[in-house]
Amino acid sequence: MVLFTPKRYADGDRLSVAGCAVRLKVDGRARRVSLRVDRAKSEVVALAPTPRRLNEAAAFAHEKADWIAGQLAALPSRMTIAPGGVLRLFGAPYRLEIGPGRPRKVEAEAGEAEGRLVAPDDVAWGLRILRLAKRDALATLTERTAHHAAALNRPMPSVAVADPKARWGSCRLARPGAPAAIRYSWRLVLAPFDVADYVCAHECAHLIEANHGPKFWALCQSLAGDPAPHRAWLRAHAAELHAISA
Ligand SMILES: [Zn+2]
Repeated sequence: MVLFTPKRYADGDRLSVAGCAVRLKVDGRARRVSLRVDRAKSEVVALAPTPRRLNEAAAFAHEKADWIAGQLAALPSRMTIAPGGVLRLFGAPYRLEIGPGRPRKVEAEAGEAEGRLVAPDDVAWGLRILRLAKRDALATLTERTAHHAAALNRPMPSVAVADPKARWGSCRLARPGAPAAIRYSWRLVLAPFDVADYVCAHECAHLIEANHGPKFWALCQSLAGDPAPHRAWLRAHAAELHAISA
């Protein structure tokens, strides 16, 4: 006799369905089990209203294996930094090259369509190319932050770049003895300049309005114009930007 014990799943468990990653998630607002695609993580999430119904969500995911495979196949492929490829820094194209000497960014000369990012031929080539991109991110995001902070008549905050998964920027207000601190995702260097500049304006507007109320959005608009197209661009390209690795 075979005793069948239904498997007990926990929130956050991962399954492999037809070779695709599926994460189980309890969502108290859900009314039934369902599937959705998390583009940023290139995985499918199977939602259940309660922990007890996670095995129902897992069964549903297996039932919909074809749909899951199709959804994940349609996501942008993981972009890899490779010699001969092109990386756009704030919209401007740079050809990726192997070359002797210090890793460097070479601006396009008059008549050239592309600049160049050059690093020597070794195992760390890709990491060095990404480091050039991160350095560029910090320089430009710092410059734009200075611009918007000055427009708001606020002292210059400290600026850093990191690699957060879920947000493009964050702003911590000044405290006694410490200036305000703004942190950006270095991946904003992979977005068009106007989109990255909007994020700088957004974080600087928080230096005055620490919320997302109507006054905040009016301030944001006064610094960088209508935020809607920039926010839409970031939503549409989040997965692509997070897929870039060395
Ligand atoms: Zn905000």
